[in-house]
Amino acid sequence: MIHRLAVFGATGDLSARYLLPALAALRAAGHLGDRFQLTCAGREDWDGERFRHWVAGRLDRHGASWPADARKAIVACTRYRRADVTDPAEVASVIAGDGPVAVYLALPPAVFPAAVTTLHDVGLPPGSRIVLEKPFGEDLDGAVELNRLLADLVPEQAVFRVDHFLAMTTVQNVLGSRVANRVLAPIWNSIHIAEVEIVWDESLALEGRAGYYDGVGALKDMVQNHLLQLLCLVAMEPPISLDERELRDRKVDVLRSVRPLTEKDAVRRTRRARYKAGRIGDRPVPAYTDEEGVDPGHHTETFAEVELELDSPRWSGTVFRLRSGKALGHDRKEVAVRFRPVPHLPFGNSGDARPDVLRFGLEPEGLTMDLMGIGSRAQTLVPLTLTARMDPPGLPAYGQVLLDVLRGDAALSVRGDEAEESWRVLTPVLSAWSKDLVPLQEYPAGSDGPVPPRRDAPCSA
Ligand code: NDP
Repeated sequence: MIHRLAVFGATGDLSARYLLPALAALRAAGHLGDRFQLTCAGREDWDGERFRHWVAGRLDRHGASWPADARKAIVACTRYRRADVTDPAEVASVIAGDGPVAVYLALPPAVFPAAVTTLHDVGLPPGSRIVLEKPFGEDLDGAVELNRLLADLVPEQAVFRVDHFLAMTTVQNVLGSRVANRVLAPIWNSIHIAEVEIVWDESLALEGRAGYYDGVGALKDMVQNHLLQLLCLVAMEPPISLDERELRDRKVDVLRSVRPLTEKDAVRRTRRARYKAGRIGDRPVPAYTDEEGVDPGHHTETFAEVELELDSPRWSGTVFRLRSGKALGHDRKEVAVRFRPVPHLPFGNSGDARPDVLRFGLEPEGLTMDLMGIGSRAQTLVPLTLTARMDPPGLPAYGQVLLDVLRGDAALSVRGDEAEESWRVLTPVLSAWSKDLVPLQEYPAGSDGPVPPRRDAPCSA
């Protein structure tokens, strides 16, 4: 276990809302002892006192569910250094100390290459680890280059490419349920499953995050990482163990089996859109282009949808639809598995039959099955819904992420080749979108998203 954590970008949103509360959760659960030291780096010219005051305030706001003594212990073990990640002397002062250090880059993705280069120039103590947030690179070439820089810095086992969805118990439940249940395991294939929707629709709009989001957009922020990781868990061959190599090998198999899209496919099988002014409940929401800090010239999408197929014996014939949007009328965060109809129904009203749908709730957690039951005189079909709730997770996702980093368990982080394969899947989409082959639609904030185009519409490419 490593006892030193250095966070660059510590004055940012991720640090305030997730990393600091996660550390309080780890302290409360007894995972962080008195040896633990936290060094935070930011570009603000603050002293330690002022920064600790800021940390205490963020913990009161975002980590209030953790005990006060755990929060106080995190504040007490924190020191602050002013550092720009491009300045070797400032970076050296952050990582200085005894023994290996875990270096967390909670930075905008565009800054990762410069940060890794500086760390290389400064040098890390033996046994150190490096943690990078998503998206890993800004495109395939960027990911390849970043992997090359990292390989010069530390061994691959010491690189943690974070996708915190993998650490969510609800996400792990998708894999657990399908491989550990006799009822599901034999029907988990294209013979029985027609379509899988992997959806992260949120009613939150930009919420002041233009600095990060504008120019990145929904495809790179959500689909390229979180939703493709979910696709891997839904579609992977049952792993023989949950060790790091086996899990990540099986995920890469899925990414490699994605049928390559052409730009022409991208026109028919992808959608992008951004929100215009509207209301979510009683809250007025400005158009995305009127949000503070947004450059309309970036044509950033706040909604992305991609339809994929896998060329594999198990999945040939099943459609996988990945979709995420902001400022929508309702939160819908789930994996919905739609089964094929039964071959024959002995009922008069069989036209009313709906396909069975198994829904894995990602947030809030839960398992739901929409299916058909028999009505009162056994001659009619009625829709039924079965619901199950799960126990709340012991640790928040970022608590698990940080614990894995400190312990050196990389099973729930993304390997370098996986990150590159994920970009490879979406490169034709990025290319088609950059050439405007797919129109940037609009949808009112608070709506269900853009109206789907007619599927028989002629292709323009
Ligand atoms: P923010 O823009 O809020 O914070 C970025 C931080 O990086 C700021 O502290 C900023 O300092 C610092 N920074 C920027 N450039 C430099 C530099 N050259 N040297 C030193 N520090 C620098 O972004 P987020 O915290 O939201 O996101 C950080 C990362 O986490 C991103 O990769 C994002 O994708 C990922 N992430 C964020 C989530 C979230 O909900 N916020 C969720 C999941 C992942 P300054 O203020 O001085 O510019």
